[in-house]
Amino acid sequence: MRFFSTREKSPGLLISEAIALGLASDGGLYVPDRFPCFQIEDFDGVTEFPEFAFLVLKPFFEADPLSGELEKICKRAFSFPVILKDVRSSQSGLATSVLELFHGPTAAFKDVGARFLAECLSARSRTKQTILVATSGDTGGAVASAFHGRPGFEVVIVFPKDGVSERQRQQLTCWGGNIHTYAVKGSFDTCQKLVKSAFSDPELRGTGKMSSANSINIGRLLPQVTYYAMASIQYLRKHHCSASFIIPTGNAGNAVAALWAKKMGFPIGSIGMATNANRVIPDYFKSGDWKPSASVATLANAMDVGHASNMERAFHLESQGFHLKENVFSVSVSDEEIRKTIGAGEKEYGEIWCPHTATAIYVRNLQRGASQDWIVVSTAHPAKFETIVEPLIGHRIEVPKVLEDLLTLKSNYEEISGDYEDFSKLLFFG
Ligand SMILES: *Cc1c(COP(=O)(O)O)cnc(C)c1O
Repeated sequence: MRFFSTREKSPGLLISEAIALGLASDGGLYVPDRFPCFQIEDFDGVTEFPEFAFLVLKPFFEADPLSGELEKICKRAFSFPVILKDVRSSQSGLATSVLELFHGPTAAFKDVGARFLAECLSARSRTKQTILVATSGDTGGAVASAFHGRPGFEVVIVFPKDGVSERQRQQLTCWGGNIHTYAVKGSFDTCQKLVKSAFSDPELRGTGKMSSANSINIGRLLPQVTYYAMASIQYLRKHHCSASFIIPTGNAGNAVAALWAKKMGFPIGSIGMATNANRVIPDYFKSGDWKPSASVATLANAMDVGHASNMERAFHLESQGFHLKENVFSVSVSDEEIRKTIGAGEKEYGEIWCPHTATAIYVRNLQRGASQDWIVVSTAHPAKFETIVEPLIGHRIEVPKVLEDLLTLKSNYEEISGDYEDFSKLLFFG
């Protein structure tokens, strides 16, 4: 299998080469030249997540130097559970399944991609590598956790100074050692621009010493396909029909992973992209025009993205015979609606939702009249956003052990401007 840029000017690469480069030299994002097609029977008898993941990812590693290590990589990366559970609304009586992706070391779904990426890069890398990551909240913590203490890696994380929760900041800045964290005076878009500039900087590009850990990296995106594959089959086994997914969406990596899973033949109905007040994606589905804009701050801060990079991969799917408008819908959810959904969560579903998951629950509640079955993707543990959630539910949230351990470490970071010249000076490590 080969990987090409969405802009189709760069040569086809093996997956470990595409992972090492992060962004294609023409500025595009790597996509596979074709998608394997699976049958449900291919997974008969398979119940464990690492084994599911291995079978789904195997064709993408065909002919790659990492193919012999893929099974081990999956076992190490996916060492925590992914849970599909059923809930019922006490108001409408309707059933919903919830795909909980937050049982990893930093309590958000970003652990899945970050840990897989770290395992792939470690298995291959011989020279010292700098990993760059722009984060609007959860990515940085997951990447830091995945790379902390790994020999041969320096990690540079940039986050919007005023754009993350206190606990998120703690998870970004508590590591020390090979993890270098910077608070940028600006938005997530400013942070993302810094990272993109570094990748197109002629002095840094092509040195082979820099890689990206954002979901623009195929090594983070591809492993996310595996939980859609597994959840869709688990659902089918249990309920004897296929489910549609509703996904809290920001940079659209998680949603593109679901689109790819559908394209690969997994039993998935429609894909709903729930956004916060950043409504570029729903506006696109309404008007047909793609108009990236500045991001606005919301309660679901990990989704505060004005220019969803991965939509470039979604658009590219059209050329591979997958029609977005037939398969996808998107709804923007306001802060007020997020608040209401969190406030009603325990009474209606017996669940505490994080602000991101609440956008998807809100969109699910809008589908009362639709005949599909729904799986709502739950992307983070609510205890990460206790300052938002606790006042709305009226009591404290129990903090998971992993999170509690991180909260006791010492925080350590520097502030920088959004200026690329200043930032580039921070990128040279021995
Ligand atoms: C990153 C993140 C999202 C958005 O995912 P994308 O892949 O960027 O669309 C949603 N929820 C949480 C908790 C996140 O950390």
